[in-house]
Amino acid sequence: MDKEVDYDRVEYATNRNLENDEGEETGHIKMFSYDTEIYFFEMTCPYCGHEFEDEQELGSRPWWIECPECGRSTNVFRIKDAHERKVKKTGDSSDVDLDEV
Ligand SMILES: [Zn+2]
Repeated sequence: MDKEVDYDRVEYATNRNLENDEGEETGHIKMFSYDTEIYFFEMTCPYCGHEFEDEQELGSRPWWIECPECGRSTNVFRIKDAHERKVKKTGDSSDVDLDEV
């Protein structure tokens, strides 16, 4: 990713594989946010293998990210698990759970 992640400021981050229709992990996403409103992500589409990065304002889940190449949308799920692990790991109990409605 061209954009450097400042882990001191990051409020949310995930880094996971994405499955295609056959359940094969052919895609990947790396996503982070500094304010849990604008999310920066770098993604490899599990359907066509296209790699792209973008930033997007995401509201309440489920979150869908559309591939500009094949037009398929990927559901970025279980994102809260990663979020909670991060919070637990850093011991940071401040107001970071803004994505839960
Ligand atoms: Zn695609």
